[in-house]
Amino acid sequence: MRAGAGRYAPSPSGDLHIGNIRTGVLAYARARQQGQRFLWRVEDLDRVRPGAAESQRAVFADLGIVPDDDPLVQSARLDVYAEAIARLDEAGLVYECYCSRKDIQQAPSAPHAPPGAYPGTCRDLSEQERTERRATLAAAGRRPALRLRSENREVTVADALLGTITAPVDDVVLRRGDGVFAYNLTVVVDDAASGITEVVRGDDLASSAPRQARLAELLDLPEQAWLHVPLVLNESGSRLAKRDGAVTYEQLRARGWTVADVYGWIWESLGGPDPTSATGGSARWRSIEDVIAGLDVARLGSVPTVFVPPADDAA
Ligand code: GLU
Repeated sequence: MRAGAGRYAPSPSGDLHIGNIRTGVLAYARARQQGQRFLWRVEDLDRVRPGAAESQRAVFADLGIVPDDDPLVQSARLDVYAEAIARLDEAGLVYECYCSRKDIQQAPSAPHAPPGAYPGTCRDLSEQERTERRATLAAAGRRPALRLRSENREVTVADALLGTITAPVDDVVLRRGDGVFAYNLTVVVDDAASGITEVVRGDDLASSAPRQARLAELLDLPEQAWLHVPLVLNESGSRLAKRDGAVTYEQLRARGWTVADVYGWIWESLGGPDPTSATGGSARWRSIEDVIAGLDVARLGSVPTVFVPPADDAA
């Protein structure tokens, strides 16, 4: 196998729906097409439902997808995240933030700052101000968050499907006020630890890629490639969700779907027969091997990906 690895990193907050599953299948197929390893990560620092991590992996095992190593479990790596923050801190890139969500909403935004960016309220406080604010928070039973001292500079990354993604990197939270290490930090630290060379995930996270690339750079970690794939939508054009009906693997199985049906639907979601190919491209997929053989990433963006849940015949 060539160097490099891909990954899938679902949050174990519940059952995966067909849209999440499609993203994981694409991540796996993309890694295999490039002769790479495929790794699994359990992002369990927040919103955990007991048993969900195991059942998510069992769904993928049913689909013929088994990662090449034991999953990386974030809750077992708290010292690694703390060490990353300590390194940024040594470089003078970390400061405490005492703001509540409301404080941030109500603060006037800094000139030229992108909308929604942290206004910089706690960026340049004196030591005395910090001591006071820390004490006020402590009296309310709260702790400060830690933020990155960024320069609000624009960062551009290249995406295999979207082209370039440019976004300003503001003073992102590194550790939340409740002590939980922030997603943007843990993703960067873990992708590097696992040797991930291309991140494949849903395009709802595309705008986070520049900030993650910048954090990786500041931590002296290698650059990655990116591929953000379209999310699956419901019939009204919004993001597919559990309330849309039979959307999880278990529910679809209960409606009579087979593994081949899951792959067949993924094939359809990518436009089915390829009109640009003389042979129509690959036949309807039935297995993960078919996806690896037939997936053409260039076609990913060309069709809207709507899922219409099968009706319950018994209802
Ligand atoms: N855990 C995130 C999610 O389930 C994905 C993180 C990532 O792929 O970077 O949405």
